[in-house]
Formats: sequence, structure tokens, C-alpha cells
Amino acid sequence: MPGFKAVLIQKDASGEQSCGFVSLTDADLMEGDVTIRIERSTVNYKDGLAVTGRAPVVRRFPMVPGVDGVGIVEQSASLSFKPGDRVLLNGWGVGELHLGAWAERARWKSDWLIALPSGFSPDEAMAIGTAGYTAMRAVMALERHGIHPPAGPVLVTGAAGGVGSVAVALLAGLGYHVVASTGRPEEADYLKGLGASEIIPRSDLNGAGKPLARERWIGAIDVVGGQTLANILSMIRYDGAVAACGLAGGLELPTTVAPFILRGVTLYGIDSVYVPKPVRIAAWDRLDRDLDRRKLAAMTKRIAFEDVIDAARQIVDGKVRGRLVVEVG
Ligand code: NDP
Repeated sequence: MPGFKAVLIQKDASGEQSCGFVSLTDADLMEGDVTIRIERSTVNYKDGLAVTGRAPVVRRFPMVPGVDGVGIVEQSASLSFKPGDRVLLNGWGVGELHLGAWAERARWKSDWLIALPSGFSPDEAMAIGTAGYTAMRAVMALERHGIHPPAGPVLVTGAAGGVGSVAVALLAGLGYHVVASTGRPEEADYLKGLGASEIIPRSDLNGAGKPLARERWIGAIDVVGGQTLANILSMIRYDGAVAACGLAGGLELPTTVAPFILRGVTLYGIDSVYVPKPVRIAAWDRLDRDLDRRKLAAMTKRIAFEDVIDAARQIVDGKVRGRLVVEVG
């Protein structure tokens, strides 16, 4: 059986985790009805957590990381896909519980796959990836709440990162006044290029806060969590909402009920992993319609497959700007 190249995270008897390139065969792949030749993947924050072991993302060892992939179907026992079809996968525990996309081949369940939306090349789909699709779902949550551009400014935290960059571009394209919070002031021009109207420093949001502070934004998309999310809740305008999707600054949420019961603030949770297929397709349709491809290109860097492990280490240190596309094959 011919071998193929893959990244593998392993754990030894002492619990020590290691990560490197190996050669696998199809016999190593897990259960699934569709076998795929992977063309492109990406690097998400979660992949960084998996590779570094900084959070218990991986729940099966050995594990191939990579929560997003695009590839060509080579074998299929499913009526939904045939050899030659180009498919897209985001989430479903791939790269956590089921071998992921940082390999030249993958075997996945057809229920997890969608046909690559016709509006996107494989590179564009991975430039969006879980991060961009999560940003879209966060924007849709604010819209469902009734927050439209005239309602007031919307804050995006971690703005120079993956979710943040796509959220800034989407909101600005839809006509919102976007306030971008970043810990990297040197990225101000980049963020303005994506459409941010104002840039505020990360330090405005992560210090000790009060249960209620001056009302500033009608909505927010937060990737940071922790004290930052608590402070944002205390600064949201009456009847506004926050879409919380990340933990880059911490898992805890040291808030009070004051924003909820005195200002009617709503906190929405955004998950990207176990979203039902129709909701995923709706989010990809919106990305197709609303994401400016030039802005997407401006936030994206392509990297070679060989460089993916280094990139995963950099993303959890907050050193990656925008999105990365990994050229797997
Ligand atoms: P990135 O690393 O690309 O972006 C995160 C950004 O957060 C950084 O670029 C940085 O932006 C900021 N940041 C990093 N560390 C800190 C810190 N300690 N305090 C404050 N800000 C910080 O990651 P992604 O955009 O891919 O993911 C962002 C978060 O969203 C992660 O926690 C990830 O796990 C989560 N996520 C959740 C999903 C879901 O299903 N709910 C799906 C996708 C992502 P800057 O330099 O501009 O301040």
C-alpha cells in the first residue's frame, strides 16, 4: 500500500506529547465512507492548541491535526459524493477525535462533507476555513438579534487574527461602523484596509472592570473571552448583544448579571463544530455573497505543508496575522 505524508501528534507512556511528519497508509485512516485526496488546509487556533498540547483539544492519540480541509473524492460508498467531486470539511471533531486534514489523504463521513461552494476556489475556502465561517455565524447572530448598521458601532476583538479579520471585513462590507480591538498597533493600517473605522488597544478591554461601564457598542464579536468578555458585556449599549466565539484570553468569564438584568444585554455562544448541515450551507452562502474577495486575499498568506507545524505554534502565541492557507497537495 503506498504511503502518504501526514502530520501526527503522538503521546508517549509518560504522557509527553510530540508532533512531526510521518508516512501513513490508507490502513491507518479511521472509519468513514469517503476517501479524499487533500489539496488545501489551513491553520486555526484550535490546531495550535492541538499541536502544542496547551489545551486538551486532542482526545484520541495518535492524531492527525487539521480541522478544515478541501480535497478531491477518490473513493466513495456514499450516494451523495462520487470520485472526482471536490468537497469541503469544517469541524465535526476532525483533528480532535477523528484523523484530520493535515495529511495527503483523509477518510471522513459523507454526512460531514459539503460540496465545495461554487463561488470559492479551494484556496479561498481554506482562507475562510473554520475561523471565517465562525465569523460569519457570529455576524448572523447579531443580525438575528436585530443589530443592523444604523443601530450603532460593533466591536471586534482579536481583530488582526483569523476570526477577527474576517469579522471586520464582513461587518464593514455590510455597512457597519466597525471598532477593531488589537494588541498589535502596528496592524492599524491592515485593519483599516479591511474596513475598520476605529482601532482601540487591547489594553482598553482587559483590565479590572466594573459591573456596568459607559455604554459604547450595540454589538460585539469576541474571540478573547476572560476578563475582556466581562468588560465588553459591561460596555454594551442597552438591548445590545455579544457573540462570543473564542478563548484566546481565557476560559473563565468573571462577569455579573448587571449587564443582563439592567441593560437587557444578550450573550450568544457561537460553535462551529457540530453545526447542522443546512446552517453551514447558509453560512457559506452568506460568505459567498458578502465577503469581499480582495479583502480575503489581503488577509491570507499561503504556506508550504512543511511549515504547518511551525505556523501552529505561532498562532497560539498571537503571531499570525489574518489567515493561512496550507498547500497540502
Ligand atoms: P488567531 O490566533 O488567528 O486570532 C486570535 C487573536 O486574538 C490574536 O491574533 C490576537 O489578536 C488576539 N489575542 C491573542 N491572545 C490574546 C490574549 N491573551 N488577550 C487578548 N487578545 C489576544 O485565532 P482565531 O481567530 O483562529 O481564533 C480566535 C479564537 O476563536 C480562538 O480562541 C479560537 O479557539 C476561537 N474559535 C472558536 C470557534 C468556535 O467554534 N467557537 C471557531 C474558530 C475559532 P490581536 O493581535 O489583534 O489582538
